[in-house]
Amino acid sequence: MLEKSNASGSDSKTGSECLKIRAHHLCCIQGFQGYGYSPAFVANMRAVISDIGAFPSRTLELVSECDVICISCPSKRECTIQKSTLSRRIRNMDLIVMEKLKIEEGALMKADKAFRLINSKLNSASDIEDVCGTCKWRQKCLWYMQTER
Ligand code: SF4
Ligand code: SF4
Repeated sequence: MLEKSNASGSDSKTGSECLKIRAHHLCCIQGFQGYGYSPAFVANMRAVISDIGAFPSRTLELVSECDVICISCPSKRECTIQKSTLSRRIRNMDLIVMEKLKIEEGALMKADKAFRLINSKLNSASDIEDVCGTCKWRQKCLWYMQTER
């Protein structure tokens, strides 16, 4: 179910393949509880999370465009239309994360390092609100709900 990234790599079974991940999805991955846009989306999300869990040293390419999670999303088409409201809103979440992490579009980073970085740089309620303020999944998301602890 896990779709290959357009980035690069050779063999997903060894964890050497680079996965393209939208920057704000570093948060969503950590908050995922099994809810999503469709059964196919949920299955793919589980596969991505399981893959990264199995290969924490896998390289991620951090982007603000469609990634290995979007590939199974019913909103993928709308999210790839650059001038749509949804596309701009979601891309803005990626850009906020990149700014807070001080990384550029296309930054390459090991998955475990990427999660450590985001959890160290985005840990205040206002940081989380900046990224997730407009997301409809906030009340289902463990990452967002850390603001309520
Ligand atoms: S609240 Fe939404 S955008 Fe924020 S981490 Fe959760 S699912 Fe992602
Ligand atoms: S809503 Fe857009 S950014 Fe989010 S998973 Fe779907 S296609 Fe990707």
